[in-house]
Amino acid sequence: MPDDTVRAWVGLGANLGDARAALAAAFEALGRIDATRLLRRSSLYRSAPIDSSGPDYLNAVAELETGLAPHDLLAQLQAIELAHGRERPYRNAPRTLDLDLLLYGDALIDTPTLVVPHPRLHERAFVLHPLAELAPGLSIPGRAPLPALLADVAGQRIERLAG
Ligand code: AMP
Repeated sequence: MPDDTVRAWVGLGANLGDARAALAAAFEALGRIDATRLLRRSSLYRSAPIDSSGPDYLNAVAELETGLAPHDLLAQLQAIELAHGRERPYRNAPRTLDLDLLLYGDALIDTPTLVVPHPRLHERAFVLHPLAELAPGLSIPGRAPLPALLADVAGQRIERLAG
C-alpha cells in the first residue's frame, strides 16, 4: 500500500439475475484492486428502481483505501462492471452490476468522464442510507450534512436486509 492513500466510497447496485451474488462478487473484486484495500462493506439494502424499471435493486456501499488516482480507480470499477456485463443474456441487456465512485476523499472533480462527489448521490436513499450506516458523520463536499439529506429522501422506499 503506497504512503499516499485516500479514503474512497463506492456505491454498488444490481437488479438482474442473482443480485445478491453479483454484489458479493463485486465486494470480492473491489478487494483485489491494485493498491487498494476494502475497509468496510455496508449491509445490503433493497430499493425501488429510480429512473429505471424492472425488479427492486439491491444496493450497498464499500469503503476503500486506495493509492490509485481517481480516474484509475474509476477504470478499475468499470473493468469490474464489464466482467459482470459478460453475463448479459442478450445484446444491450441492462447491466447486472453498477459501480459508482461516490466520494474520493474530499476531492471535487468535474471532468467529462468523472464527476465526484457523484452528481446524484445526495438525492438517492439507496446511497445515503448505506453511507450513513458506516459513517454517520461523513461530510459530502458541497452538500448538506447526511441527516438533512436523509430527511429529504424519506419518501423513497428502501429496506435494510438482515445478514
Ligand atoms: P452509468 O451508466 O450511470 O454507470 O454511468 C457511467 C458513466 O458515468 C461513465 O461514462 C463514467 O465515465 C461516468 N461517470 C461520471 N462520474 C462518475 C462517477 N463518479 N462514478 C461512476 N461513473 C461516473
